[in-house]
Amino acid sequence: MEVLVAEPHGMCSGVARALEIARQTLEQHPGQTLWCFHELVHNEHIVAALQARGMRFVNAIAEIPEGARVLFSAHGVSPEVRQAAALRCLEIVDATCPFVAKVHAEARRYAQEGCQIALIGHKGHDEVVGILGEAPEQIAVIETCDDVRALRQKVAVSQVMVLSQTTISEAMYEARIADLQAAGFEVQFPKVLDICYATRERQQAVRALAQQVDCVLVLGSRNSSNSKRLVEVAERAGCRAALIASPEELETIDLLSVRRLGLTSGASTPESLLDRLRDSLNAR
Ligand code: SF4
Repeated sequence: MEVLVAEPHGMCSGVARALEIARQTLEQHPGQTLWCFHELVHNEHIVAALQARGMRFVNAIAEIPEGARVLFSAHGVSPEVRQAAALRCLEIVDATCPFVAKVHAEARRYAQEGCQIALIGHKGHDEVVGILGEAPEQIAVIETCDDVRALRQKVAVSQVMVLSQTTISEAMYEARIADLQAAGFEVQFPKVLDICYATRERQQAVRALAQQVDCVLVLGSRNSSNSKRLVEVAERAGCRAALIASPEELETIDLLSVRRLGLTSGASTPESLLDRLRDSLNAR
């Protein structure tokens, strides 16, 4: 079996930056607990390694002792969370990815200008929850066509400013924009697309790879939005694809009829994990 690897793949600059901030903070304060609001990045291997080094993960600011140090994840947080942290006198270390921070800044700016904002993304994802918190009255999260219909019924405005989660697929983005236009909205956009370069490049690479192989394996966690999108993009290109969280899961995939196998990994997957996957394939 021939194995081809998508280029680029794997860890993006935002995740690498968040990990470096975490590493430096842990080193600067040895023996002290570093609390992290939500998973620092969506990868269970990285989270487990950080836990072993003394980081503790929580889903509510109230769980953190007053005056302690808290790390905000690469996915960013809402103003409400920042306020709750300030009330508990927490020392904030902010690892929000600059591309996510850009969408927050856009949400604040367009909300102040009185715009109705359509935020295309996945409901409940940490990043979407954080951006929505910037102006909950003026932002509608648009995941499906039904959400567009609900927005049409709720607001009388003709214009909407379209923002998006950084890690959605371009296909989803374009489909929801078409839905908004079909519902009679005049859509406006920020100057620079919100889907980040890392997401777009990895999706383009897997789309090209899918045309050359019989099956694509995406190495990434099941709660990693960008990893799940890589599977969807490969499938949409007509290729069989599967998400595996670790090299051990290789055993669950039927590769008997596969002559050419494509590999890629999500933006929060360490390269060492992909090396282990290659080793497992070689061993087979
Ligand atoms: S996927 Fe994009 S937005 Fe998310 S952390 Fe990486 S660079 Fe930042």
